[in-house]
Amino acid sequence: MDVAGVVEAVARMVMPREPGHGWDHVERVRALSRIIAEELGGGVDTEVLDIAAILHDVGRALSPENHAEASARFAERLLRALGYPEDRIGRVVEAIRSHSFSSGRRPRSIEAAILSDADKLDALGAVGIARVFMYSGAHGRGIEESIRHFYEKILKLPSLMLTKPGRRMAEERVRIVKLFLEELEKELRDLSRGSRGSLGGGDAPGAEAR
Ligand code: FE
Repeated sequence: MDVAGVVEAVARMVMPREPGHGWDHVERVRALSRIIAEELGGGVDTEVLDIAAILHDVGRALSPENHAEASARFAERLLRALGYPEDRIGRVVEAIRSHSFSSGRRPRSIEAAILSDADKLDALGAVGIARVFMYSGAHGRGIEESIRHFYEKILKLPSLMLTKPGRRMAEERVRIVKLFLEELEKELRDLSRGSRGSLGGGDAPGAEAR
């Protein structure tokens, strides 16, 4: 088994069962990383990138408040134990450390930039919408709070993209999020208008359908 295979086997055991950040998220981030790297064509250490993608969220089980740092330290210890070359350990660790939205660090390598973009892309599009509500369900967050999360975090993600393919995919994916939010807010607005006494009026929900 190659190093990535061993790392994957370990990560599968350690990954938190957290909805939205579990192993399925890791698999999607790996696939998105691969797509971005291929589109960039060359200059990317694809093994470093894959290992960083596999391990980027393991720290969520260890330290929920600074999971990027916890994941980076876990990766460093694991890869050193496996005898992985020091310079490549450094690149994996740097990519993991700087991938997080809240870390405030700017990725300094191409692998770090790709991982950061791939992780953010998984928070956008239809998958991103599904993940927001999975998280909300697990944390007792209602629809209004979820909407706030879209505005405070999700809609800002396209402006944080670091690679050209990442930027393009983010623009595509944010469209469905905006459409969804528009519709969600319209339905809620119509209902609150209705509950103030205009239900049955011209602009009541479903009026056009009748
Ligand atoms: Fe992640």
